[in-house]
Amino acid sequence: MNQILNPDFSNKEKCISCGKQATKLCDIVTGHIMTTSKEIGLWNTTCDNPICDKCSIHLNEYMDICPDCIAKILKAGGGFKK
Ligand SMILES: [Zn+2]
Ligand SMILES: [Zn+2]
Repeated sequence: MNQILNPDFSNKEKCISCGKQATKLCDIVTGHIMTTSKEIGLWNTTCDNPICDKCSIHLNEYMDICPDCIAKILKAGGGFKK
């Protein structure tokens, strides 16, 4: 069973790339979990890798992406559209 992470950033995580204090979590959606709660319903699970400002890719206002996900996306032949 996947753990539902608190959306508030704990500030204790270290960046997966450089090991410094992370300031954000990767926002790439990796899947969905069905919950039994009517209020939540379908919950997006996200990568949630801790990343710092320098190592994250700022995609838009709401999304920052970790180097792991960048590599996966590039490998899959995708790319970023502006
Ligand atoms: Zn970093
Ligand atoms: Zn990621």
